[in-house]
Amino acid sequence: MEKDRLDPWGTSVIKDYARLQSEFGIEPLAPLVPRFKAPSHHISRGIDFGQRDLARVLDAVDNHKPYAVMSGIKPDGVFHLGNKMTADDMVYFQSLSKKGTVYYSIADVEAYADNGLSFNESSKTAVRNVADILALGLDPDRAVVYKQSEEMRVMRMSTIFSRAVTNNMMKAIYGERQLGLYMSALIQAGDILMPQLPEFGGPKPVLVPVGADQDPHIRLSRDIANRYRSEFGFIPPSAIYHRLELALTGGQKMSKRDPESGFTLDDTSADASRRIRAAFTGGRDTVEEQRRLGGRPDICPVYDLYRFHFAKDDEHVQRVDHECTKGIRLCGECKQEVIVTVKTFLDEHHRKRDSLMKDAEELLAKNRDYLSSRGK
Ligand code: SF4
Repeated sequence: MEKDRLDPWGTSVIKDYARLQSEFGIEPLAPLVPRFKAPSHHISRGIDFGQRDLARVLDAVDNHKPYAVMSGIKPDGVFHLGNKMTADDMVYFQSLSKKGTVYYSIADVEAYADNGLSFNESSKTAVRNVADILALGLDPDRAVVYKQSEEMRVMRMSTIFSRAVTNNMMKAIYGERQLGLYMSALIQAGDILMPQLPEFGGPKPVLVPVGADQDPHIRLSRDIANRYRSEFGFIPPSAIYHRLELALTGGQKMSKRDPESGFTLDDTSADASRRIRAAFTGGRDTVEEQRRLGGRPDICPVYDLYRFHFAKDDEHVQRVDHECTKGIRLCGECKQEVIVTVKTFLDEHHRKRDSLMKDAEELLAKNRDYLSSRGK
C-alpha cells in the first residue's frame, strides 16, 4: 500500500486520514468534540479531523486563561480556499474566549524561499491578505499581525533554534530540500513559539490550525519547544488539522500552483463559475446510471465546496449527500446551485474586503508600533 506523504511545499498523499495517527501521531479530534458548546462547521462536519494537545487550549478556554491562536499566510498573490479554511478556524478559536489572541504572520521570507518573491512584491499583497481575514471575521482588537521579515524576534529565534537542529533531523521531517526551505521552516518555528516569549505574557497554550499537509511544521516546532523548554519555558504548541479539499480538476488537493484546481477569494464570480462548471465530479457516465446508482460525494470536489464552505448549515450538507447518493440530484443542477452561492459569497467578500483595505493598513502599522514597544 502506498505510504501517506505530508509535504507542506509540494504534493501530499493522504489515502486514509485515520492512518495519520499511526504514521505521524496525529490524534483523532472526535473524543474532544463534546467539549465544544457550539462547534464550528469544520468540527460538526468532520472537516477538522485531528489534533495534537488540543485539550490544553480547551482547558485555557474553560478556565479563562490566556491562550494564543497562531497562523500565517504566504503572501504570494492570492487568498486561496485553503487559506480561508485556516482563517475560519482561526476566527472560530479566537471567538471562544476573550483571553484568546491571534498571532498572524505574513510569511514573506517563505514566499521568497519558495516562490522567489521579493519583499517589495509580497508587501503589496500583504495588505490585501490582511483585509481578507478581517472580512472573514477576525477581531482586530485581539490580533497581532506582522511581517516575518520585519520581526527580529522571529529571525533571532530561528538562528538560536538552528543550533539544535541537524541536517539529518530536517531531512527526516521534510526530505531532501533546498537550504532556503529548511531556513523558512525554522523561521516558521520562530513564528509559532513567539507568543510564548516574556514580552507577550510568557509560556501559554498556542493553537496552530493547519491543513494535514502542514504537519511537518508542527512536528518541528514541537520538537524545538521541547529542546528549548529549560531555556524559554516553552509549552509544545497544540494543533488542529483540517482535511485537504479535493481539486476541481480531480486531483487530491486544491493547489495555488494549479489555478484551475480551485479558485481564490480574488477571482471574479465569473471565473469561479467557469471552473466549477468544468469541474470533475463523482457523477456517473449517464443520467440513467446516476439515477440508478447514485453519485459519489466522497470523491466529488463539488460536494467539498458545499461541505467545506458554502452549505447554509449541516442539514444542507446532509441533504446534498442524500440526494446525490440516491440519484435524486444530477451534477449539472448540483453545480448550478453551488455557483449561485459562490457568486453571492464572492461579491459580498469583495465588497467587504475593499472597504477594509484602510483598516488592514492601519492594523499592520498599529501592530508594528505595538511590537516595537515590546523591544526587539
Ligand atoms: S450530484 Fe453533486 S455531489 Fe453528487 S457527484 Fe454530482 S456534483 Fe458531486
